[in-house]
Amino acid sequence: MFFKRAKRKLPKPHEAKCHIRKGDKVVVIAGKDRGKVGKVLQVFPRKQRAIVEGVNIVKRHMKPTPYSEGGIVEKPAPIHVSNLMVFCPKCNRGVKIGRKFLEDGSKVRVCRKCGEIIEAEE
Ligand SMILES: [Zn+2]
Repeated sequence: MFFKRAKRKLPKPHEAKCHIRKGDKVVVIAGKDRGKVGKVLQVFPRKQRAIVEGVNIVKRHMKPTPYSEGGIVEKPAPIHVSNLMVFCPKCNRGVKIGRKFLEDGSKVRVCRKCGEIIEAEE
């Protein structure tokens, strides 16, 4: 018997938007790392996932190769962006993000609570 396996549809790149950007400070709001604050190292918009410094650490058992010693390597694994909230330094908590246009026409993200402009540090 053969079953058709449903293909997981990924959004097209221009449809894949994320409230989180690389360099953002975020708070984990769900899962085993709940409450942790970390910097976003990488975002995968099409998968709606992001890698956050120090969050969702997994242990990988590496085989020794001529280039590395092998052993157990700990590295952060991608976490779903719905588990993350942008951290507002002024509110000192994870907040919802709004958008605003500045006088010069540039678009910025702001904290919906206090209105502070939130920028990702590079
Ligand atoms: Zn705020």
